[in-house]
Order: sequence, then C-alpha cells, then structure tokens
Amino acid sequence: MKRAIIFIMDGAGDRAIKEFGFLTPIEAASTPTLDRIAKNGINGLMYTVGPGIIPGSDTSHMNLFGYDPKEYYPGRGPLEALGEGIDLKPGDVAFRVNFATVDDNMRIIDRRAGRIKSGTEELAKLIDGIEIDGVEVIFKPSVQHRAVLVLRGEDLSDRVSDSDPHIEGVPVKKVIPLEETPEAKKTAKILNELIMIAHERFSKAEINKKRKEKGLLPANIILTRGAGMMRYVEPIEKRYRIRGAIVSGVAIVRGVGRLLGMEAPKVKGATGDPNTNIDAKIDAVIELLKDHDVVLVNIKAPDVFGHDGNPIGKKKFIEKIDKHMRRLLDYAIENNVYLIVTSDHSTPCSKRDHSSDPVPLAAIGPDVRVDSVEKFGERFAAFGGLGTITGMGLFGTILDWIDKAEKFGA
Ligand code: ZN
Ligand code: ZN
Repeated sequence: MKRAIIFIMDGAGDRAIKEFGFLTPIEAASTPTLDRIAKNGINGLMYTVGPGIIPGSDTSHMNLFGYDPKEYYPGRGPLEALGEGIDLKPGDVAFRVNFATVDDNMRIIDRRAGRIKSGTEELAKLIDGIEIDGVEVIFKPSVQHRAVLVLRGEDLSDRVSDSDPHIEGVPVKKVIPLEETPEAKKTAKILNELIMIAHERFSKAEINKKRKEKGLLPANIILTRGAGMMRYVEPIEKRYRIRGAIVSGVAIVRGVGRLLGMEAPKVKGATGDPNTNIDAKIDAVIELLKDHDVVLVNIKAPDVFGHDGNPIGKKKFIEKIDKHMRRLLDYAIENNVYLIVTSDHSTPCSKRDHSSDPVPLAAIGPDVRVDSVEKFGERFAAFGGLGTITGMGLFGTILDWIDKAEKFGA
C-alpha cells in the first residue's frame, strides 16, 4: 500500500523581511532537513484555495483534501464542535462560545472571564443537556475560556447574529434573526433564552463564588458567535477511496478532518501553540499510517508568530520543526512513504494576519521527479518542477502518486 504524509507548517509562508536582508523567515532559517527534501524531491508554489484568495486554516485544509470549501464549508461553529469530539448530525446548528464576565447590567467586563483556566466543566454541566422549546442544548468546554454549543432539533437556522459584541464595556448583544424565516426567529429566541439561563445558573455556581473570594472575575455568561449548520458531506473514503487522518492541536483543523469522514484524534501534548509536542505528533502520524493512506499533520506555531508579528520567533520555530523533521524524513525514506512539506497559507509578520501569497512546497517519495531546486523556501520553490498549483491540485497529485487517482477520459 502506498501512503503519503502531508506536513503542514501552519502560516509559515511570509513576505520579505528587512531585518533578514529581505529574506522570509523560512529562507532565513537554517533548515538542513527541509533543504534535503527540496534537493532530493520536487518543489513548487501553492495557492491552497486559489490565486488571490486569503485562506483560513479551515478552508485551506478542505482544499488540501480535495473538497471545495465554496461548496462544503459549514462555518466555524460546526468545525470547532466536530474538532472537540461532538458527533454532529445534519441540521444541527453549532456556535463558538466564550465564557465571559458581565456586571449586573449585563455589561461585559471581560470577554474571557479573567482568562479562566479551570472549572468550566462544572459550569458546562449546568446547561448541557437542557431542552428549550423541544430543542436539545449540547454544551462542551474546550480550552481556557472557550466552549462549543450545539442546538439540536427541528427547524433551526444558522442565519442568526452573534451575541458576542467582540468588544468590552458594552452590553451582551441580543441575538437577532438575519432573515425573515420562522427557523431563524426560533433559533434566535432559543439562544436568547439559553444565554439568560446560563447567566442565572452560572451566577449562583460554587466555582464563581470561589473565584470571587480569590479576587478573580466570575464566568457568569456565555457569548456566542460563528453560527453554522451541519450538513452531509460525502466521506473521503467514498469520494476518493482513501482513508485519511489529521493530527493537529487545533480544534477547527481536526474538525475539517471529522467533517470529511477522517480520523482526527486529540494527541496528548499537541497544543496548537509553541509548546506543542512535535515528537508526540510524529509518533501519532507513524501510528496512523498503519491503516491510513494519507495522514496530515499540522503544526500551528508558525502562524501564531506571524499573527504576533514576530519574525525572529517564527524563524527559530521553523528551525525547531526542521530538527524534528529529520526523524520523519528517515521514516518516510525507509518505508517508501511520500512526504510533502508545505503550509496552509502565508501569515506575514508584517501583516499579522493571513495573506494570499502562495506557500512553498517540497515533496519527496519513491519515484517523485527531481527538479534543480536545492533549498526549501518561497524564492526557491518558484523554480520547482510542480510549478504553481492549488491545494486541490496537490491533492490530485498525491492521489496519483499513491495510485488512487483515476484517469480522466479514455
Ligand atoms: Zn492556518
Ligand atoms: Zn492564523
């Protein structure tokens, strides 16, 4: 069985940085293992979603598995809920949630409830499983002040506004229907009721009494955003006849995996921040390759440094990834596994956000063509044998390498 690993350095692509002599963080970093892959393999530039499109991590990962997000993207709420391990059914409406602090006039003091770190499980139990107008409430805390909310029942809609005003010092927003349908009205009404129930129950909760005694802000409200409705998506095994898996510390990336019918386990120590355990992720990849054709691993930290506008941190972290890559490359060569190293989008430190700039890509494998590129990086990849391709194009190429693609025509 031919297999492939897609290694995603999240947000690693960048723009020219003056302090680095107009090199990008990847180009400026010392990366002997990535360079070895570039030198002995094929290279290219990739627009994950398409030229001129600024990808989110979720939409880019959908493309990398051959699903057009314009057709299948369910919104952030469902992806986050799936990533947190909730089994969604078509018709469920899911939201991203913050535990927050309000005063007696429902004015927001802190959108993150004093960056609450523990006790959210206890609060979640106070509303998880309740029913409002025949609609079931599923509520699960995730990391720190975050949680996911799912409404399950008949005739719901994701066309409702956020209750999260995204700023502090103002009252919690009333959820309003964004279209004149009974479904949107019903969903907005249920949400507004749920927010009040949460406020009442959380305010009396033991953990909040203790927090107040310690001088900490109570988590006494939920703020909802990112409504999306789950719909059926043909699983990857049916659509492309492959078994796929995703290893990531980021809930929405795991959520993409689960949406497409893949395995996306929570790996211990895989945090989605610079303290993540890269070795544990590599172990998980190797384990998953036993019964999967394509395994994607996502390392989030380069994106975090990009958002923070920290080119030196980004460069150093890319060097750290390079050190860990050695073991994965040895494994790939020894086991005739294809290894593709790339990024899901650029996150230029100067922009502090994602950009449409294409990302470098290098791939190595048993019979992959070799081009004359000798180093891994944006400027080198531009001369690569794959040219400039899209995420869908890369996925199709990988399918062909592992003998899972079908001929188009006679
Ligand atoms: Zn990303
Ligand atoms: Zn990002």
